[in-house]
Amino acid sequence: MQKYLVANWKMNCNAAEAKELVHGIIKGIENCKLKIENLNIVLCPPFTALPVIYPIIQLSNYPIIHLGAQNCHFMPCGAFTGEISTKMLKDFCQYVILGHSERRKYFNEDDKLISKKVRVALDNNLTPIICVGEFKKGEKSHLILSQVKNTLSEVRNEDLDKVIFAYEPVWAISTIADREDCEPSYAAKIIREIKETTYNKSPVLYGGSVDASNISGFVAYDIIDGVLVGGASLKAKEFIKIIEKVGANAK
Ligand code: PEP
Repeated sequence: MQKYLVANWKMNCNAAEAKELVHGIIKGIENCKLKIENLNIVLCPPFTALPVIYPIIQLSNYPIIHLGAQNCHFMPCGAFTGEISTKMLKDFCQYVILGHSERRKYFNEDDKLISKKVRVALDNNLTPIICVGEFKKGEKSHLILSQVKNTLSEVRNEDLDKVIFAYEPVWAISTIADREDCEPSYAAKIIREIKETTYNKSPVLYGGSVDASNISGFVAYDIIDGVLVGGASLKAKEFIKIIEKVGANAK
């Protein structure tokens, strides 16, 4: 069973730092003693680092390492100063993170806008990794499931296997001031509901303060198809430990 490890570097790493980080990750993978062929590692650096690390990944000869972007515009091209299109991303990426809670919170992105981005990503053969999740602990799961349905409004049922979801309870994200832990059993429960909503076709990942010390709890649940890692993906050694633990669970 394939497991995904998505690294969201957010607005961190200039070109030199990105190079150093990717070299550290590749070196760590070379030294991994565990089976890693069932893994899909998706590195999502800032846009400016994509052309810098793309050739490094190509040369590394690890087909399990892919590149993803952290956002895209909803139109394929045009007069949108400062924006990046899926056609441009296609030069480097196979994936694009959409609807991250930081985009929803700081850039007022809503499900309607995200659904348009999902459509343009699919039209350009990029796999959208759609983030959904409640802002406050205790909010009902139907809110999450409505995010799922709304962001899929432009996706045909037969294309559901081309879309990945990441369940990210915002209250569990590492940079939130009064963050709380999300129990793996709770993440698995919500992920089961998301899977039912998508007819078990879309892989569903968990994200929120995943690190080397808690990853085993999440990957112990077969229903969790992998993880989206923020802060802990910026430290090569920590990220490699996460990769090793996911690899140990990927059958
Ligand atoms: C995120 O913001 O997508 C995320 C998972 O961050 P962290 O792992 O740092 O909580």
